[in-house]
Amino acid sequence: MKIDLGLAEGLKTPLYWYDLSILTSTLEEIKRCIENKPVKVHYAVKANHNPKIMKVIADAGFGADCVSGREISASLKAGFPAKSICYAGVGKTDRELIQGMKEGIGYFNVESLEELEVMEELAREYGYTADVALRVNPNIDAHTHHYITTGLEENKFGIDLSMLDRAVDKVVSSTCLNLVGLHFHIGSQITDMKPFELLCDKINELVSRYSEKGIEFKIINVGGGLGIDYDDPEGHPIPDFKRYFDTLLKNIKLRPGQELHCELGRAIVGQCGALISKVTYVKQGVKKKFIILDAGMNDLMRPALYGAHHKIKNISASEGSPLEMYDVAGPICESSDIFGKDEELPVTHRGDLIALLSAGAYGESMASTYNIRTLPESVLV
Ligand SMILES: *Cc1c(COP(=O)(O)O)cnc(C)c1O
Repeated sequence: MKIDLGLAEGLKTPLYWYDLSILTSTLEEIKRCIENKPVKVHYAVKANHNPKIMKVIADAGFGADCVSGREISASLKAGFPAKSICYAGVGKTDRELIQGMKEGIGYFNVESLEELEVMEELAREYGYTADVALRVNPNIDAHTHHYITTGLEENKFGIDLSMLDRAVDKVVSSTCLNLVGLHFHIGSQITDMKPFELLCDKINELVSRYSEKGIEFKIINVGGGLGIDYDDPEGHPIPDFKRYFDTLLKNIKLRPGQELHCELGRAIVGQCGALISKVTYVKQGVKKKFIILDAGMNDLMRPALYGAHHKIKNISASEGSPLEMYDVAGPICESSDIFGKDEELPVTHRGDLIALLSAGAYGESMASTYNIRTLPESVLV
């Protein structure tokens, strides 16, 4: 990530700085990996809905994975074709379901028997037909943070395996819903390929079980979840997509005509963004020194929400400055408003610019106005 200090100094902070060259190389690397393969990648919009970022991804020919009606609207506005949109979520409202059907999106990832019932009713009432993939809860442990694991029985997501037959029957017997696929999403920030391998085994088992009954799925959607290197973003600005796609393509036995769909969010946008913040105070505590930033947990929520850590850099400090130990905190009235403890950084002064790296995913999109603060600005360079 290259941050132009002169340019950054002239802009208002807190500021999300997006490096277009990292984003485009990431997109190109994905395209290289799936070239001539029956694979489609849908960008998970919730990772970052900044319109400038979304447009770059839409222009590169990716589809969109949405989890709300407004994400569908934003995706259409950014230039994603309606047919390239899939729509997941445990709590789609009637209004959102109707919107998706009216816009003619690609397909719905349906998460419960109850949702199927409502969809069927609405489709009949309004005269729509809709393509449906059933989101299955495969009961696989992604071994990631418990707040971002989604494929376990105890999670609210997807249809439990024990109810899948009923869901399949329901769609197959419907006159306005078409069964097009199976959908899975086991969690996020997954860097070990083992959970994906287990998922592939489960998928093969389900696909052959239904095939015996004469039911085929055109789409196998494995969701997203590929992780990024938060510890060494500069060493690994682009995730190992080759390993990821090789794992999936080697392990899933795709049938002729079957498409593999992925919904990557973090892996696409995570490393292209940094949150730049100005040091408001360097505060001497009893035993510690604190760097108090003008960015807080409302601007970047991951550390407070998941105990996540973003690499911290003082971009104003000159090369070879002596180092000192600091806790780096925001201005918000919460003890969880901390970005780093015992961080070794160049001697830091009021007014220095600090970059929190790998903040492109679940950064700006999760920002809030807590404490009646303004939302962070952004720039795409
Ligand atoms: C959040 C989400 C994704 C994207 O997850 P990443 O970890 O950012 O790749 C994909 N699919 C669904 C259904 C999601 O909820």
